[in-house]
Amino acid sequence: MTVNLLDFDLRGLADWFAEIGEKPFRAKQVMRWLHHFGADEFGQMTDLAKSLRARLDEYAEIRPPVLAGEQVSDDGTRKFLLEVGPGNRVETVFIPEGERGTLCVSTQVGCALECRFCSTGRQGFNRNLSVAEILGQLWWANKALGRDPLTPSPSPASGRGELQAPARGVDRNGERIISNVVLMGMGEPLLNYENTVTALSVMLDDHAYGLSRRRVTVSTSGIVPAMDRLRVDMPVALAVSLHAPNDALRDQLLPINRKYPLADLMAACRRYLDNAPRDFITFEYIMLDGVNDQPEHAEQLIQLVRDVPCKFNLIPFNPFPNSGYRRSPRERVREFASRLMAEGLVTTTRKTRGDDIDAACGQLAGQVLDKTRRTGQRLEMAA
Ligand code: SAH
Ligand code: SF4
Repeated sequence: MTVNLLDFDLRGLADWFAEIGEKPFRAKQVMRWLHHFGADEFGQMTDLAKSLRARLDEYAEIRPPVLAGEQVSDDGTRKFLLEVGPGNRVETVFIPEGERGTLCVSTQVGCALECRFCSTGRQGFNRNLSVAEILGQLWWANKALGRDPLTPSPSPASGRGELQAPARGVDRNGERIISNVVLMGMGEPLLNYENTVTALSVMLDDHAYGLSRRRVTVSTSGIVPAMDRLRVDMPVALAVSLHAPNDALRDQLLPINRKYPLADLMAACRRYLDNAPRDFITFEYIMLDGVNDQPEHAEQLIQLVRDVPCKFNLIPFNPFPNSGYRRSPRERVREFASRLMAEGLVTTTRKTRGDDIDAACGQLAGQVLDKTRRTGQRLEMAA
């Protein structure tokens, strides 16, 4: 059976080479071709013997998802649309911010968790993304950005400012264009656990993307048992979508809270920090006008997190059609942040980026052939 080499991390690739009777160290070479250089044909791997390339052609393939479109926002944010089978598309967003370049990656086609304020959640769920489909987002973005860096700078070698083709994903100063990855696109990464962990392993691998654990962030709505597994298997930076300071409200906004209520979630956050590359959890808190943005909510939050070293990231709600919610007014967000900061909680407010191309948090919708009951219900209603 033909295997897709983009589905493997280094260990998987070494095992596969062993299985076909090749030296496992070939895995490192091939990894570099695939992910450093963005090779899409074995013929390009010039330091492999011709006979090996021929065997690879016979047994394996390099099959990233198909790039179906690319949009650039006025603020430099870029959205990539990737086809992952008939009727299903996922989105990936690149956000340049000074020295930093963050890629926001999707892990599922849709999401089954139905958070009320999330456009992905409203669309229903089709399936988990494969490792190749998760990594394919980084693979494509590196290719596109390496070809056309956003901030061309003079070549240090010549000093004449001429344009030279940089290595994939690296700018003319040798800096990575994508310096950070956040799994904050479509889907709940911890409900696609195995594939997410394998993809993370490739992101961190020096033979592939070589990102630091501190610069790769998993965002979760709070799947407690999987947070415990991640702490052991692949500790990276962790962001938790909190969004409400008490169970009654969180039950409404994020139905998953009924399964893993706040006390359990806070305990899991504390356990995670025992083995995390950063010494704090980032709590994401979406600001919904009149819903969770009142002074009493700030007071409850302060109590809730008093034993969890953390930072807050307030996210002004990004609207989408028929969401039923409004963004909190700017002044209210400022007051909320000040109250948290007065208690010594580091609090930032996320800038809205890319909303002119529907690339802001919670606006990613791609295209999802829903397999849950939701679409059915909607169709019945429409009928
Ligand atoms: N499923 C994971 C990761 C994807 S969502 C999670 O929920 O954490 C990434 C972030 O965007 C989450 O914090 C999510 O709550 C937030 N988000 C969802 N809908 C949003 C919206 N309409 N406006 C702003 N942020 C939103
Ligand atoms: Fe899924 Fe995250 Fe959206 Fe909730 S916020 S529906 S967990 S993608």
